[in-house]
Amino acid sequence: KFITFEGIDGAGKSTHIAFVSEYLKARGVDLVSSREPGGTPLGEKLRDLVLHEKMHLETEALLMFASRREHIAQVIAPALSRGAWVISDRFTDASFAYQGGGRGMDLPKLEALEQWVHPHLQPDLTLLFDVPLDVARARLNATRSLDKFEREQADFFAATRNEYLRRATQFPQRFRVIDSTQSIAEIQVQIAAILDECFKS
Ligand code: C5P
Repeated sequence: KFITFEGIDGAGKSTHIAFVSEYLKARGVDLVSSREPGGTPLGEKLRDLVLHEKMHLETEALLMFASRREHIAQVIAPALSRGAWVISDRFTDASFAYQGGGRGMDLPKLEALEQWVHPHLQPDLTLLFDVPLDVARARLNATRSLDKFEREQADFFAATRNEYLRRATQFPQRFRVIDSTQSIAEIQVQIAAILDECFKS
């Protein structure tokens, strides 16, 4: 199984990824945890570039997909083919949400990159952590110094969030939208139920 985690900055994804990892390991799953951009030594170098250098929007999108190509080749595909489960902190939905929704890149160009880089691979399950912008911003301010994306204006995050929600509607089979304003305990109950379903299918 391939499970991805998505949401705007400050949506609380990291806390819940740790929970999912523990939950699956406790059930004896052979688990590979990874993240994007990054996930491989080259991917981490690309992550550093993309998060800290100013660049053309399409350069940014191409680097995200370059990182993803490497991630699939070195980590995701080998793990899935040996029967392991993979959890990834972000995947292609993030390119649609951030580069497409947030920054306004043409969605057909992103679809073409997706077709090129992973024509046959899609997550089995995507957990989308959704929060209103004011909640996300308050959490970010409280917890960490902001990188170039996190300093963006509210309308950037509004557009990013909208694109995530649009994709959740477009691909209802694999998306589960989690109201991330709930308490951590409430969210964990919800996630456990979703994972239990996943074991059955
Ligand atoms: O998920 P994480 O916080 O590690 O992501 C790092 C940064 O990269 C975030 O600020 C996110 O907004 C940004 N990002 C992006 N486009 C992607 C993936 C992540 O702008 N496709």
